[in-house]
Amino acid sequence: MIPIINSKRQYETIGPDVEKAVLEVLRSGSYILGKNNQALQEELAKYIGVKHTVTLNSGTDALHLALRALDIGKGDEVITVAFTFVATTESVEIVGATPVFVDIDKDTFNMNAKLIEEKITPKTKAIMPVHLYGQPCDMDVIMDVAKRYNLHVIEDCCQAIGAEYKGKKVGTFGDIGCYSFYPTKNLGAMGDGGLVTTNSDYLKDRIVALRNHGGAVRYHHDEIGVNSRLDEVQAAILRVKLPYIDEWNKKRREHAAFYNKLFAQYPDIETPKELDNTYCVYHQYTVKVPNRDEVHKLLQEAGIGAMIYYPIPLHMQKVHAHLNVPENSLPVTVENTKHVMSLPMFPEITEEEQRTVVEEVVKAVEKAKSAACC
Ligand SMILES: *Cc1c(COP(=O)(O)O)cnc(C)c1O
Repeated sequence: MIPIINSKRQYETIGPDVEKAVLEVLRSGSYILGKNNQALQEELAKYIGVKHTVTLNSGTDALHLALRALDIGKGDEVITVAFTFVATTESVEIVGATPVFVDIDKDTFNMNAKLIEEKITPKTKAIMPVHLYGQPCDMDVIMDVAKRYNLHVIEDCCQAIGAEYKGKKVGTFGDIGCYSFYPTKNLGAMGDGGLVTTNSDYLKDRIVALRNHGGAVRYHHDEIGVNSRLDEVQAAILRVKLPYIDEWNKKRREHAAFYNKLFAQYPDIETPKELDNTYCVYHQYTVKVPNRDEVHKLLQEAGIGAMIYYPIPLHMQKVHAHLNVPENSLPVTVENTKHVMSLPMFPEITEEEQRTVVEEVVKAVEKAKSAACC
């Protein structure tokens, strides 16, 4: 059995340090927004290359509070993609705004930045690109459109901590960047966690207030906020893990290159492509295969933890049915959804395991092909 991610194997390398850090928190008596949160915010600001970061309870809250801080709500439109995790568009609906979908690029799986302009209306307030699978979006084009139409940009970096576009980390281009520390993300806590990044003092202050019931000063409440504070235990764990993130991302890239090499002689299996001048951090290693559902089934039977991210594009989900977006209005999104399959990818995966994965994928693709043809 080779799982899509093996968190236990990572724990074997950092376990003693994590346990020491957690024990210190437990003994300290300070459990919410204490010194570990403060330090983590500073360390992450330095790592990402941004003036401020604010720790939060989840990536979903990061997205939703980013929209709140930019005063985006009822009657406003936010341009984003349907090929992402539901939290991206859920956050838009949470604040009462309307997600407007733009199709993706078939090679990068990300927002096709050239199609943004035709979706802009007088109601458009923001663009929300998603750096899916750890691959940076085409930020030059996105920022150029945003500037010309005076739109905000909120980057969904939940899968892309450490990813770079032209030498700058994602989450530093737009008004706000949103990160998740869900355990399976490249930098994962051992519970939920999230973060926003911003270079704006004003937006930082707004989000600091919003995460703690809408008041910057304790028991003085200026607006309706939420409770989205990060536990000290999670902050302490993240501080232990942060120094490893570059090494872990580098390993993911090496594993991706090795997969690419092994798959090179099989034209039926399309390996992921990278944009020029980007540093992709392979949160997922995602291939495209024919007869995907059959291949996926065969792989599961063979003990390979292949996963479909994501099986139903968001414009076809019940939650967004009220938007009445025609299925065929996003042809590349729909087509990709039918063919993508993510393979086991984590820093600690071995070459032997990768060889087994490739062998099984090749076998499954062959088998599904002969079954489909006759
Ligand atoms: C994980 C993820 C989120 C949500 O993060 P949570 O911490 O689980 O709330 C949002 N967007 C994308 C693209 C994600 O992968």
